[in-house]
Amino acid sequence: MMRITVCLLAIIRAFVGSAATAQPFVDPRSETDAAFHMDKGLETGSHDPACYDTKLVSTGGPAPHSPSTLAVRWVGVSNFELAYEGKIILLDAYIDRGSNFPPLGFAAADMKKADVILIGHAHFDHMSDAASIGIRTGAIVVGAPITTEKLRTQSVPESQIRTVTGRGGEKLQFNGFTVEPILALHGEPDKHITEVMEKAVNSLVPQPTPAQRAEEKAIEERGTSDPRVITEGTIAYLITLDDGFRIIYRDSGGRITDYEKAAMAKLPGVDLALVAVSADYLNRLTEQQALEYMRLYRPEVYMPAHHDAAYSGHTPLWRATEPIFQALKDANPRLITVSREYREPVCFDTRINIARGQGH
Ligand SMILES: [Zn+2]
Repeated sequence: MMRITVCLLAIIRAFVGSAATAQPFVDPRSETDAAFHMDKGLETGSHDPACYDTKLVSTGGPAPHSPSTLAVRWVGVSNFELAYEGKIILLDAYIDRGSNFPPLGFAAADMKKADVILIGHAHFDHMSDAASIGIRTGAIVVGAPITTEKLRTQSVPESQIRTVTGRGGEKLQFNGFTVEPILALHGEPDKHITEVMEKAVNSLVPQPTPAQRAEEKAIEERGTSDPRVITEGTIAYLITLDDGFRIIYRDSGGRITDYEKAAMAKLPGVDLALVAVSADYLNRLTEQQALEYMRLYRPEVYMPAHHDAAYSGHTPLWRATEPIFQALKDANPRLITVSREYREPVCFDTRINIARGQGH
């Protein structure tokens, strides 16, 4: 009986494995965007393992075959990996989060390849592994002055550091894409709400052990809690790929700034928004902040970030994304919302994009 069960399991595994790699990937826009139906070739036909494999490209997973395929993986808090045209862009770097957190399935030390690391701000839960990954991969690391000050204390070579203020005129040119830093604002959740909620949650969950506190402290020390992070250290990044596909990345759920408004005034919208859910706990407030981003960035596709974050730096408390998706779609029924689990890729055919007059 045991042997039959094992045998059956092997057959099922083989079948599931081959079925998974035998399908072309599905761009999340393909069901509603007419451009995909005019040219079948755009369904990105190749049976690309890069769009199924849960191994990050930076940790040795397959890179997309086609130069027009963008593979996006969310890996906790505001970390993303973007793989495009043989390049790897990491957004934030908080990978080794400690034993209180669910595992991501890999460690910072496994990340051996990266070309550019964009750090949204210098709190530890956004940059604690930026220095080690930067040093190991040789990637260019980009951040606000307070972020790069911190990188310098962790021995990142000066030649890899790019300091930006986000106040305009700083477009960075890379092989295959450009990056425009935009001064944003860190989230400032209502203190009354956070105090009440954190006190309540803290009274219900086990407190960290001394060993866990020591572990947390070591991680926290690789970032900074300098108050300047809030107003002059939080950078949104507008990434424009060679063929015009635009991505906005914002790693903290604060109010939008005049710099963001000025940057977006020049554009009809972005193809993909990777934006943090605000830390306000209450759905009504997280929805309001997401609506503000949607109206400003006018994305085709919205992917949330920061929704598995911790309260007070300890046990994670996930923020619900469904009420946010509902509120966004009530305001804009054509919006596409996507949220996957850790490491699951979402692939886009970047030949279809707003800059070429496609989308809505
Ligand atoms: Zn922060």
